Amino acid sequence: RAKDSGGNVHYSYEPALHAHAEERRRLEFALRRALDSNEFSLVFQPVVDATSEAVTNFEALLRWNSPALGPVSPAKFIPLAEDTRLIVPIGEWVLHQACIAATHWPEHIRIAVNVSGEQLLDQSFAATVVSALSASGLAPQRLELEVTESVFLRDGNQARAALEQAMALGCKIALDDFGTGYSSLGYLRKLRFSTIKVDRSFVQGAATGNAESLAIIRAVVAMADSLEMSTTAEGAETEKEVEIIRQLGCRKIQGYYFGRPMAAHDAEALFRSRHYLSKQTAA
Ligand code: C2E
Ligand code: MG
Ligand code: MG
Ligand code: MG
Repeated sequence: RAKDSGGNVHYSYEPALHAHAEERRRLEFALRRALDSNEFSLVFQPVVDATSEAVTNFEALLRWNSPALGPVSPAKFIPLAEDTRLIVPIGEWVLHQACIAATHWPEHIRIAVNVSGEQLLDQSFAATVVSALSASGLAPQRLELEVTESVFLRDGNQARAALEQAMALGCKIALDDFGTGYSSLGYLRKLRFSTIKVDRSFVQGAATGNAESLAIIRAVVAMADSLEMSTTAEGAETEKEVEIIRQLGCRKIQGYYFGRPMAAHDAEALFRSRHYLSKQTAA
């Protein structure tokens, strides 16, 4: 910190640091306008039953196409939206749109929506869920909120209370990216998650014969089964990965192998396709 040291100290990395701060500033400037300018959209990725391959739910994934910056990856703008708390209004929009989309699907199909810690810590979270459900008319049982372990880090009790309010409405809760965070089994005891989502890194590891990945998935599946929670393997891209996941007993699979995130009208069309209907009968 040049300021703290008092003198005219010059650091060689300053230009790079400056460029980074400048990029972030531009991103934030654009992000602040994105919601009002209708630059967001949702895509939907199918999750299938591991045995029947029938679609059981879709995960809503946020997309941002900025006129100034082009398409920006969620990996880039979600952390910034969280830091600036813009995720609160953005997340409200996501919840509303996702619930509306799901009303066009068969009644047994759920919608999963990602929720950040900042949203859970906001006083209006429960009211936002109620409003998204009532505005769309979606049954609460069809809405599953996906949270990562990180939401419990800052104010675990408040985050848990917010999730319990959603559960009291009838919503389901999924634990996302399991195994990548500060996995604490304490959360599994305190909250009745419907689903544990096993992170893609374990799926990849298992398919390449990594003994640790195999052992961890096996243990997570056994634990979820005895806790009466479902398991979803994330990011299955190849037939080999799908085979391994099946052998390990994961109940559901999500990944490019079965379907990429798609526009709402393509998700709807899927339910009218003969392929879907035949898988459905097999379920
Ligand atoms: P996530 O919730 O774990 O979502 C799964 C991510 O894995 C998505 O990336 C999805 O496109 C990607 N994926 C799915 N199948 C495959 C596969 O077979 N191979 C590979 N390589 N990737 C696959 P995406 O859409 O870029 O989203 C990244 C993350 O951004 C999400 O991870 C989630 O944490 C966050 N995110 C996305 N939408 C929202 C949102 O509406 N609200 C919040 N708070 N976070 C969101
Ligand atoms: Mg997710
Ligand atoms: Mg995930
Ligand atoms: Mg993941």
